[in-house]
Amino acid sequence: MAYVITDSCVACGTCAAACPVEAISEGEIYSIDPETCIECGTCAENCPTEAIVLPD
Ligand code: SF4
Repeated sequence: MAYVITDSCVACGTCAAACPVEAISEGEIYSIDPETCIECGTCAENCPTEAIVLPD
């Protein structure tokens, strides 16, 4: 299961720069391609608003 970006996203771009597999796309809020994400958690660790979560 891939990480997902929630409404707390402020589109700062920190996650996209940190992702080792370029799974994150820009937007009004950013989004993660579930096919590309390797669930490393780097984006979630670096997000300043804790907007990135691993769904249950
Ligand atoms: Fe990229 Fe890792 Fe975040 Fe997946 S968990 S989007 S691979 S930084």
